[in-house]
Formats: sequence, structure tokens, C-alpha cells
Amino acid sequence: MSRSGPHVAVVGGGVIGVSVAYHLTRAGATVTLVERDRIGAGASSGNAGTVSAGHPPLNRPGRVRRALVDMLDPASPLYVAPRWDPALWRWLIGFARYCTEEHVEHCMRVMAPLGKDALALFDEVIAEERIECGYRTEGYYDVCATESGLEGARHEADVLQRHGYGPETLNGDELRRREPALGPRTVGGVFYPEAATLDPARFLSGLVRAARQRGCVVRERVAVSEVLERSGRVRGVRTTDGDAIAADAVVLTTGPFSKRLAEEFRIRILVQPGKGYHRDIEIGPNGAPKLGIACVLNESSVFCTPMGTRVRFAGTMEFSGENEVVREARLRQLTRAARAAFPDLGTARPVSEWCGLRPVSVDGLPIVGPVPGVDGLHVATGHGMLGLTLGPVTGQIVARLVVDGDDPRAEPLAPGRFG
Ligand SMILES: Cc1cc2nc3c(=O)[nH]c(=O)nc-3n(C[C@H](O)[C@H](O)[C@H](O)COP(=O)(O)OP(=O)(O)OC[C@H]3O[C@@H](n4cnc5c(N)ncnc54)[C@H](O)[C@@H]3O)c2cc1C
Repeated sequence: MSRSGPHVAVVGGGVIGVSVAYHLTRAGATVTLVERDRIGAGASSGNAGTVSAGHPPLNRPGRVRRALVDMLDPASPLYVAPRWDPALWRWLIGFARYCTEEHVEHCMRVMAPLGKDALALFDEVIAEERIECGYRTEGYYDVCATESGLEGARHEADVLQRHGYGPETLNGDELRRREPALGPRTVGGVFYPEAATLDPARFLSGLVRAARQRGCVVRERVAVSEVLERSGRVRGVRTTDGDAIAADAVVLTTGPFSKRLAEEFRIRILVQPGKGYHRDIEIGPNGAPKLGIACVLNESSVFCTPMGTRVRFAGTMEFSGENEVVREARLRQLTRAARAAFPDLGTARPVSEWCGLRPVSVDGLPIVGPVPGVDGLHVATGHGMLGLTLGPVTGQIVARLVVDGDDPRAEPLAPGRFG
């Protein structure tokens, strides 16, 4: 393709940055993607690998109250580390304001159609670029061990149904018939047929390979230290090795690390790092059960995703600041939850243990679009628990904003919405 489009610097090589770079390159832009570590070093390689289209965000009625009650229990699924961090507490108060039924409904009006676009785009990109990533479009089960969990799961299924998805409610016997590895504690659940799963690390390396083949320049192990601006217009970026990369547009896709670069432009990126963990266990007699499709354990929010010869147990949400400290108790909680659901889970040692930081926005919606007052500067972050799901569609939206100047899907995601 001839490159008549703009020169664009994309900062941050997670699933959002790689997707943005890929779609921009496809749209004819000349793109340099800069990643301070290696591609996927943030949350984008080790996540649960589910494409969970159409689900509401973390902000739900009662969420903050539950977090405050659980605060001192490091084994609870949603954990706020008790420490003095004024930015976190301001963010939590803001987050609580968005935990209403009305806001969930608003998010669903945005997320439900975006989810449909996301699914279609995964099918298209994976097929067109021949990305080998174990992509499976067979859905997943939301598995409940308590009647109150089942009530919440049914409520969520109703919400998705009203917004054009086809969840199927199942009783315990039916769920065990479909997934025999589930134990007697399972009281029922919901099947989400539209969901898909994949190996996120393989997806990311396939997508970055496709972007490179289409002409994108990828620079790893060098950070962007400054966004260059003159007379209210971006001119490019400066990197830590002293280079200046000239660009007509700059897209910040730095995930939970977006605040510092954004603050230079006095924009409020109301995002907190929400840490999650995974443990991968090989399938085998003393290891993980061979699951038919992925299961999400409702009460603990632990995802159990088959990935080739192993099962990835992933989840928990910990607000403890920008750090990658691994808390053993959180890892153990994954296994404990998995063993309660799958009594045959063996004692084999995990083959991988990991933690990553989700960029969690204060209102649960991604923050995507042009930064007011600085021509050519865009941001795409705040995808929280849905960054993989919404990665490709975010890339497409940003490419249209940068190259064509418009994409109506970006309106409710605008960075300027927080004032
Ligand atoms: C346990 C867990 C399970 C999850 N499961 C799912 C799931 O099943 N489905 C789903 O949709 N989502 C899931 N997620 C969420 C998803 O992983 C994230 O939303 C997504 O990875 C965020 O992508 P990102 O590109 O915004 O951020 P990141 O992946 O963090 O990428 C940002 C990148 O920017 C780089 N960077 C930062 N500063 C600079 C700089 N100055 N210069 C250059 N580079 C810089 C960082 O090194 C990093 O690589 C899960 C997350 C976790 C933690």
C-alpha cells in the first residue's frame, strides 16, 4: 500500500498500542510503535484470553461497599490495599459515584454494540493475517457455587439479553453434564455463546508481525520521555535514547502508566492500576482438568481458560498502586477457587505464575480519542478488564479518528468527558 497518510507515533506496545499501530498501518499511515520494554510486557500477554463481548464494566451497584468490607482480606476477589494514597482514594470515591444501575445501562448502550464489532473484527483479522493463537469461538460458562451468585449471574444475563446477546441459563445438572470436570458445588450458571477465547501472547505476536509486514516500524526497549508540541500541535515524541521521532499525530497507549505523559498536557486520565494474577497448570492426571471450554467462577471471578496443553487460572482485582509485587495469598486464592469448582484439580506445580496491571477507568468505559486543546494528540486507555476484548476495535476507532477525522463510536469514550 502506498503511504500517503499521516506519520503517527504510537506510545506503548500492549494489545491497545499494537492494535492501533496495526489498523493505522492498514489505513495508510506511516507508523512507529515505541515500547519501553518488550511488546506485551504489561497486562496484554498474561491475561485470561477471553473475548467477553457485551459485558458491563466493574462499576456495579454495591461494588465499593463490598470492596471496603473485604479490604482487610487479601484473599477477597476485589482487594484495596489499606494504605494512604490520596489519588487512589479520590479515584475510589469517583468510581463509587458511577456504581449505579443507570450508569450500568449507559455503559451497556456503549459496550454492547462495541462488543459485536469486536467479535467480527477478531474473526476478520485472525483469518486475514493467519494468526495462530488457539482462537476458539465456542463461548464460555459463568459457573456459580451459591444461590446469590446465580441470582447475580441471571441478572447479568438478562442485561446482556436486552442488549442483543444470547446467554443461556443452566441448572447445576445441565452444567455438569456439559462440563463434567465441575464438582457437586456447582448450583448453575450461564452459557455465553458469543464469547471467544485465545492465547493472548500468541495473538499479540501475530498482530505485531502483521503490522510489521504492512510497514509499521516497531522499536522495543526504548521509552518515550516527552511528547513534542509547538503552538498547540504535536510534532512527535522524544525517546530516552535521545532520538526525536517526528509525527503528525501521537497516540498514547500506555495503559495504567498513562498519567505522567498525559499530565504534561493537563488532561485528567482517571485510571488506576488494577492488579491481576495468573497461574498456568498443565493438563494431566495430577494437573488441571481437560476443560471443554472456558469457565468463569462467578463468586471468585477466576477465569479458567484452556490454552493448548494447559489451563490458565486468572483473575482477582487488587488496587495497591503501580507495582508488580506478587502476593502469594492472591496466587493461592486462584488455586483455592479452582479446586472448589474442579475437585479433581491435582497438585502439580504451576508452569507459569504472573501478575499484570489493568488500566481501570473511573467510570468503567475506555478513554479513547483526541485530547482537547492539543491538535494531533490522542489517547487510548482505561479498558480495565476488557482490554483484549476491545483491543482490535479500539485500534480501528483510533485509526479512523486519526486518518479520517471521525468515528461516531468514539463519542462516549472521549477523554474530555471528565473535564
Ligand atoms: C489477570 C488478568 C486477566 C485479564 N483477562 C482479560 C480477558 O480475559 N479479556 C480481556 O479483554 N481483558 C483481560 N484483561 C485486561 C487486559 O489484559 C488489559 O485491559 C489490557 O492488557 C490493557 O492493554 P494496554 O495496551 O492498555 O496496556 P498494557 O498491556 O499495560 O500496555 C501498555 C504498555 O505501555 C508501555 N509503556 C508505558 N510507558 C511507556 C513509555 N513512556 N514509553 C514507551 N512505552 C511505555 C508499557 O511497558 C506497556 O507494555 C486481564 C487483565 C489481567 C491483569
